[in-house]
Amino acid sequence: MIEKYKGIVPKGDLILIERLCEKLKGCSFLHVNSTRAGGGVAEILQRMIPILEELGLKVRWEVIEGDGKFFDITKKIHNALQGNEERFTKEMWEYHFEVNRWNAEKMNLEADAVFIHDPQPAPLIKFRPKNKESLWFWRCHIDLSNPQKSVCDHLMKYYEGYDAGIFSVSKFARGEKDLEFIVPPSIDPLSEKNRELTEQEIQETLEKFDIPPDRPMILQVSRFDRFKDPIGVIKAYRIVKRYNDCVLVLAGSPATDDPEGEIVLNEVKEFAANDPDIKVLLLPPFSDRDINALQRAATVVLQKSLKEGFGLTVSEAMWKGKPVIGGAVGGIPLQIIHRVTGFLVHSVEGAAFRIRQFLNNPTMTEKMGQKGREHVWHNFLITRQIRDYLSIWYYMKEGKEGILEL
Ligand code: UDP
Repeated sequence: MIEKYKGIVPKGDLILIERLCEKLKGCSFLHVNSTRAGGGVAEILQRMIPILEELGLKVRWEVIEGDGKFFDITKKIHNALQGNEERFTKEMWEYHFEVNRWNAEKMNLEADAVFIHDPQPAPLIKFRPKNKESLWFWRCHIDLSNPQKSVCDHLMKYYEGYDAGIFSVSKFARGEKDLEFIVPPSIDPLSEKNRELTEQEIQETLEKFDIPPDRPMILQVSRFDRFKDPIGVIKAYRIVKRYNDCVLVLAGSPATDDPEGEIVLNEVKEFAANDPDIKVLLLPPFSDRDINALQRAATVVLQKSLKEGFGLTVSEAMWKGKPVIGGAVGGIPLQIIHRVTGFLVHSVEGAAFRIRQFLNNPTMTEKMGQKGREHVWHNFLITRQIRDYLSIWYYMKEGKEGILEL
C-alpha cells in the first residue's frame, strides 16, 4: 500500500517509514477515540490504520460508547477546553469516569503503544493493564490555546498518568511533562476525499445539490459547530454579495459524538432565511466524493473558525489548489501562511474583503492556490504524520537511554 504513495509524497518520509517499520514490525498499536465518522480524528484514523497494518504492525481501532448524557458532557468539556465558560458538577465528572470504566471493562486495552485521542476516553489511563510494558500517549486534537482552567486542571489529572502527550500545535502543549511532542494532522492524497476527480464526477455533485456550475461558489465544509462560525460565514457572504455575484455552500455532516450539530444546523438555516443562493447541505457520513467535488468546484474556500485544533478542511482545499481564507486561530496558521498560501482573517469584514480580493483577481488566486498545494505536499500529507508517530513510538521504546540508529 505504501508503494502507491511513491512519486506522490516526499520520498524521505517513505524511507523513514520503511526503516521504522523494520524496527517495530509485529508490535501492536491501539487507537481509541469516540466516533468512527464525522470530524478530523475519525477521518485520519480511517486512512491511517490500513496503511499501518500493511506496514506490518498489528493495529486496532476501538471507539468508546456512551449515551446522550455522556456525549453532552464530553461536548461541554470540548467547548470549555476551547474557551467557553461551562458549568460542571462533581456528578458530571463522575459520569465521564464511570462511562470510561464501563468501556474499559469490555475493551481490550493491551497493546505495545496505545494512543488515546482527545478528552472523551482520557480516563481510560486509569484502567491501563498492569505489569505490561506498554506506552500510553494522550493525543489531543483540540485547540487548547485558552482553556477554561478548572476543566483543563481536571483533565490534567488523567494526563499525568500518560507516558507522553502529543499536540497538534506547539502552543497547545501543556508543559506538564518532559515528554510532549508536536504532530500536526494530515490528509491522505489517495483517499476518496482527496483523489483527482473527473470533470463529470464534479458536475454530477453540482447537479445533485442544484448548485449552478457557472457562478462563483464560496464554500465552507465543516461540522455544524459554533466554533466553525457558520453564521459569520453567511455574514461575510452577504457583504460580498453587495458587490459580486456568488453562491454560498455550507456543507456538513453529523458526528455521533457531537450532540449540538442539529441545534447549530437549525440556527444556520434560520439565519440563511431561504436565500436561494445559500445552500445549507446536511450530508450523510462518508460523503467523501461529494465533499471532494464541492472543494474542487469552489472558487474560494473558507474555514472561518473561531477556535480550531487544526482544520483538515484547510489542507484538503489547498491540496486541490484552491484559494483558502481561514480564521487566524489554532492550527490554521500552520497551513495558511498569510498572503502566501492564503489569507488569515480576524473578522467578518476581513473575510468579506479577502473573498472579494480572490473573486476579483484570478491570477493571484491561482498562484496562491499553487503555493498552498506545495505547502501541503511538504508538510501535511499522511505519510509525514505516520513517520512522526512511528518516530515518537520508536524513540520512547528504544531511544530514551542512548543513541537511536535507524
Ligand atoms: N467532513 C466531512 N463531511 C462534512 C464535514 C466535514 O467529511 O460534511 C470532514 C472534512 O472533510 C474533514 C473533517 O471532516 O476531513 C473535519 O476535520 P477538521 O479538522 O476540519 O474539523 P473537526 O471536525 O475535526 O473539528
